[in-house]
Amino acid sequence: MNIVVLVKQVPDSTEVKINPETGHLIRAGVPSIINPYDHFALQAALELKAKHDFKVTLVSMGPPQAKSVVQMGMALGADEGILLSDMAFAGSDTWSTSYALAKAIKKIGKVDLILAGMQAIDGDTAQTGPGVAQQLGMPQITFCEQVEVDGRRIIARKQIDGGYEVLEARPPVLLTMIMTKDYTPRYPSFLAVSASAKKPFHVWSAADVGAEAHFLGLKGSPTQVSKIYPPPQREKAAMFSGSGQEGAEKILEIMRREHFLE
Ligand SMILES: Cc1cc2nc3c(=O)[nH]c(=O)nc-3n(C[C@H](O)[C@H](O)[C@H](O)COP(=O)(O)OP(=O)(O)OC[C@H]3O[C@@H](n4cnc5c(N)ncnc54)[C@H](O)[C@@H]3O)c2cc1C
Repeated sequence: MNIVVLVKQVPDSTEVKINPETGHLIRAGVPSIINPYDHFALQAALELKAKHDFKVTLVSMGPPQAKSVVQMGMALGADEGILLSDMAFAGSDTWSTSYALAKAIKKIGKVDLILAGMQAIDGDTAQTGPGVAQQLGMPQITFCEQVEVDGRRIIARKQIDGGYEVLEARPPVLLTMIMTKDYTPRYPSFLAVSASAKKPFHVWSAADVGAEAHFLGLKGSPTQVSKIYPPPQREKAAMFSGSGQEGAEKILEIMRREHFLE
């Protein structure tokens, strides 16, 4: 089987800083990492590879520096890496991003299983995985905590409210993966990173994947972000020390004072 893992480079912080004047994310000076959900998806793919000797290809779309997350994945055991990098992709919304990623997957050829993270910790829309499946006309199972392969059956455990469902699909199928205790993402050693430099790595442009310019970038994006702003600061929580009884009395006193209780 051929597995593709979609990996996104994201800023190493959930505390995304925003320029209050322009409304743009301030990325300068913030170190970048592999999106944590994608790290779990990668680990799931590598465990399938170890068990069944499948081929794992990584696909990322981003600026040239996004190469580092692809390299890291190859150092961990992925066979091949592809970075979609071209100014034509800049400003793409989730629809355009899905379109470009789907074009790259079509160029790869026969793909049986695509693993994406459930969401990216910066953009946070959780739309890209389903968007890629839609663009490829492929079934999808979202919110997966585990994936197994038995012959030509792909078996996914999908988290739902209060439990899970076990779903089965025939390839090709796209799964979005959540972070669970079933997988423990690893980090490569320095030596593994140097050794991975020998693995095939390609940088593809929009023209390379046959992506049409009018579907890419800001102009090709059907959604426009009108405003980004940090949520208003909440008042700090009051902390009390002492026994449970004393704490309960203090809380009651505040509730009476604020007229929550008469
Ligand atoms: C109008 C608009 C303009 C934008 N302009 C810019 C811009 O100029 N620069 C910029 O950096 N961002 C820009 N973005 C954000 C960009 O569209 C998103 O980062 C991207 O589409 C992915 O969406 P997300 O971050 O919500 O990922 P999600 O949909 O939450 O990600 C889910 C999963 O999809 C996969 N995935 C997502 N993105 C990628 C990727 N790039 N490569 C590989 N796999 C991926 C990963 O597996 C990830 O875990 C813009 C967004 C909008 C709406």
